[in-house]
Parts: sequence; C-alpha cells; structure tokens
Amino acid sequence: MRVRGSVAIDLGTVNTLVWVAGRGVVLEEPSAIAIDTTAGTVAAVGSAADTLADKEPQGIDVIHPLRDGVIADLEATAAMLHAFLKKARRHNGPLRPRALVCVPGGATEVERRSVLAALSVRRPRYSVQLIDEPVAAAAGAGFDLTGGAGGFIVDIGGGTTEVAVVAGWRVARAVSLRKAGNTMDEAILAACRNELGLILSHRAARDLKMQLGVGGTGAGAAEVVGIDAATRVPRTERVPGGLVARALEPTVSAIAEQVLQILSEIPAGLAEDVVRGKIRVAGGGALLPGLPERIEAVAGIGAVVVEDPLRCVVRGAAEILERGKKASGPGLRLAHSVHSRGWVHSRGWRARPDGSRPASSQPPATATTGRPTRISR
Ligand code: ADP
Ligand code: MG
Repeated sequence: MRVRGSVAIDLGTVNTLVWVAGRGVVLEEPSAIAIDTTAGTVAAVGSAADTLADKEPQGIDVIHPLRDGVIADLEATAAMLHAFLKKARRHNGPLRPRALVCVPGGATEVERRSVLAALSVRRPRYSVQLIDEPVAAAAGAGFDLTGGAGGFIVDIGGGTTEVAVVAGWRVARAVSLRKAGNTMDEAILAACRNELGLILSHRAARDLKMQLGVGGTGAGAAEVVGIDAATRVPRTERVPGGLVARALEPTVSAIAEQVLQILSEIPAGLAEDVVRGKIRVAGGGALLPGLPERIEAVAGIGAVVVEDPLRCVVRGAAEILERGKKASGPGLRLAHSVHSRGWVHSRGWRARPDGSRPASSQPPATATTGRPTRISR
C-alpha cells in the first residue's frame, strides 16, 4: 500500500533522514539548526548549520537539539523538523499526512511525547505513529520477521547504541546504551588534549575515528590540525593509531559487553534464528574500522555490517509503512496525535528481575524542553 504523502523519519542524534512514499530517501542531513541570535530567526538547518559548529561565528548559535537519542531542545527540534519536512515534501501533499517516526526502544513516555509534540506544533499537523528503532533497523537489515522469526540487531548511532533481539516485528529483549559515536569523539578530543596538548574540533576528532578506528598501532597514524593548548596557535600533528584505539576502548568494550548481555538473555526458541541470521550491525558506528570484528570475537557468532548502515533504520521504517501495517500491527506504537490524549504504552521492554526498569527507561530529571540528564549505564 502506498499512502500518498506519507513520510518515514529517522530522527537521529547526529543525522535525520526523511523518506517520502513514492520518492524514496529525499533528505539526509545532520540534526542541527543555526539560530541568528540578533534577529531571533533560523539562519540555517542541516549540513549548512552543522558546518558552522566549532567555528563560532558571531551572532550565530548552532544547536544540535537531540542528545543521547532524545529530544533535548523541543523548540529547536520542532523548527528543524519543520524546515526538513518543508524541503522534503511537495506543496500539494495531503492536509494531514501520515508520519512514521523511529524512537529508541528505551525512550521514556516523556521522550515519546516530545517527539509527537515536535511534529504537532506547526502545520501541517502530522498523523504520527512511533516505531521502536530496533524493529525498523531489523526490517532495514533484511530480516524477515513474519511468523515470529527473530533477529539480532546492533544499531550504533551518534547518541545511543541499540542492542536488540526482535521477533515477529516486536522487540523481545533490548537495551539502549547511551554510549556511541559521540562518546567516541569526546574521548578522542580528551586524549589529544591530555596526551598531545592539542585542542581539536569535533570534526577533526570524528575524522581520526573514521580513519584509524580500533586498529591500534596496526592502523598507522593520521595527520590533524588543531590548536596548541599552551601557545594557542594552530599546530599540525600526526596522531598514532594506538592513542585513538585506547580512547575508543571504553565505548567499544561497553558496546561489546551489552551485546554479550543481551545474547545471554535470548529465549531458547530464538537461538537458531540468531545464529543463522548473524548479528547485524547498523548505524554509522558500524563503519568504525575494527568494531564489527570485535563484536564477532566477543559474541562468538557471526557479525555482519548491513548494507548502507546509515540508511538502515529509515529504509526499514519505509518498508513497514509501504507494507501498510495497521497502527495496531506488530512493531508500531498506537497512532496518536496531540489531540487524542491516549499516549503510548511501552511494550516489549525489558524489566529487571527485581521489577525495576532499566536506567535509560526512567523519565529524565527535567521537563521535555529541558536538557535531559546524561544517564550512563
Ligand atoms: P544517529 O542515528 O544517532 O543520528 P547515525 O547512525 O547517523 O547516528 O551515525 C552517526 C554516527 O556514526 C556519528 O557518530 C558518526 O561519527 C559515526 N560514523 C559515520 N561514519 C563513520 C565511519 N566511517 N566510521 C566510524 N564512525 C562513523
Ligand atoms: Mg540512528
């Protein structure tokens, strides 16, 4: 079924992707918005805004409105989404288009509501459905989950790593770890400053990560330009692979540990599916040199990088939309708009043996428009 004007949105911490029925992926841009602080207007969104970050132009405030996979700044997220959808949609679309939005499996009710609110504050008001990201990722990774079949998916994004076993279009076991690409970048920034006395931009740290990965000394070295911490003048330095690998280690081992943890919790009935289907690694972090191999070594079963890992979630969400699964169907949260007060129920989320919820599913300490507290697990 193709619903005219329907959109699937992967609202990621680092990248937002929009797919439109009949046209495919029409937008993939960094989740960023630049505000002109004097005029109080939007100066740029997406790539144009992201390139201004780190450069500190006067009178411009660059905001990355999502943190750790959740909306940290509701107003900025709404403005950014509005601009993206305006770019992505044709003018003659339906008045109340359908939107399927991916949210982390561990998102709290408050976080889910803020996603809905971000799409409802301006016209056109979308008829919004939420889908657990691991389910969309599993569909995008090529798992066919009909008839209760299962699959193991690891989605390493910028803010969160989602480790999940899905079965029959539902999450069977999942954890959302608030350690992913951004924590890797921060660790490289800190290591370069502490060990080399070099202050880097986030972009430079990201480039080092992509080039050297967890390869260590075997990966060689890479050249970067930063600011000398003592003299405050620009300096070029060759950064050894070992320094980057050491900086990445805490994040990489936390991801591997979570994979092992979820693997140890899979129901016996899914064991064969998981071994046969292998661990499928998605998200930008799947491209980190050496990471899939590390997951495979720790898990003791095969791990493969999905095709086009950065688009995996939006492709999966699009597939689910196109299949025309009903709102009450597996994997989809109940449809709700801000007008219908019936909010989502968290299903398939893992309760601890003592009945408590995982830390990442506890409501943030702040209101929806505030900064959430960073929860490390
Ligand atoms: P999100 O869904 O959180 O927006 P994405 O799945 O779009 O995240 O992935 C973005 C993350 O992936 C960023 O932290 C980015 O630095 C990282 N990334 C992208 N390409 C690579 C690569 N080649 N090697 C390592 N990390 C990468
Ligand atoms: Mg993502």
